Amino acid sequence: MNTPKWINEAPKKNSFRSVFKYGDPNGFKHPNDRLVEELKDKFGIEKDGFNKMESTGNETISEKIKSNISSDSFNVFKNICGEENISSKEYDRLKYSTGKTVEEAMKLRRGIIDKITDLVIHPRNKSEISQIVKHCNEQKIPIYVYGGGSSVNFGYYPENGGVTLVLATHLNKIISFNETNQTVRVESGMMGPAFEEALNNAPKLYGAKHEFTCGHFPQSFEYSTVGGWFITLGSGQQSSYYGDAGDLVLGVEMISPSGTIITKEYAATANGPKLLDIIYF
Ligand SMILES: Cc1cc2nc3c(=O)[nH]c(=O)nc-3n(C[C@H](O)[C@H](O)[C@H](O)COP(=O)(O)OP(=O)(O)OC[C@H]3O[C@@H](n4cnc5c(N)ncnc54)[C@H](O)[C@@H]3O)c2cc1C
Repeated sequence: MNTPKWINEAPKKNSFRSVFKYGDPNGFKHPNDRLVEELKDKFGIEKDGFNKMESTGNETISEKIKSNISSDSFNVFKNICGEENISSKEYDRLKYSTGKTVEEAMKLRRGIIDKITDLVIHPRNKSEISQIVKHCNEQKIPIYVYGGGSSVNFGYYPENGGVTLVLATHLNKIISFNETNQTVRVESGMMGPAFEEALNNAPKLYGAKHEFTCGHFPQSFEYSTVGGWFITLGSGQQSSYYGDAGDLVLGVEMISPSGTIITKEYAATANGPKLLDIIYF
């Protein structure tokens, strides 16, 4: 058996590979020998074909790419979120413009930089997001939202440049927990494992009588956010029991250019459709 020389090293810092490699940088799961043979057979790959690598994407991102955000807008964002929470560095802009499609991974592997966002912003709270949305609306600057980054359909592809808001950096906490209603209020950038762990530890953290679960376990669980689950109409491996991500949400607070929309958090209404249904679907 001619086993290909698989890469077993974490991607280099600031490399293309560090952007597109999915999951744990030190985790590797290569195709087994039978699959390799099958691939060779199906695609007519010659004996040593797998070892002829055009590029591994381990090159450092060094290209200089101009950011099209005006200095006035840059200063507005800096004043809103603080300098440490905005970045116009090429690596950051590329990282937060890239999802997990094969097409995106292949481009990065070849060192091709497609469209990238002009500025990455890590807002700290709702008020900052409202201010950013207001300014962007006035200046006609496109906004993209980055949750956990596991999108598989170009969800935050910056077609027209603009700014990307990264929510998992700061907006990642449970705000309140209600055992009687069995509900939890959570910031949308909270990652799956942290959210589930908090619910499992409800007796210790919130004095609850029972442990809880969210019941949402997509295959991307470790690398996706609560907000991302809902907004993408997500399903998981236990959704046939607990329902899809949308079924688990009672109400949302949504910041839009026209203002903040808050839907009622009732379990059911007597007449429909609910505003939440319209937001969700
Ligand atoms: C290996 C792998 C396995 C997957 N398995 C599943 C699966 O089993 N089930 C499933 O449903 N999906 C799956 N997906 C797809 C993806 O993980 C889900 O769509 C997930 O819900 C996205 O969450 P995220 O936090 O990563 O969102 P992101 O990828 O960061 O964003 C996805 C989209 O939602 C928008 N968005 C995110 N957060 C917000 C917010 N707070 N407000 C407004 N817009 C927002 C983004 O702009 C983007 O358009 C998988 C993906 C991968 C790579």
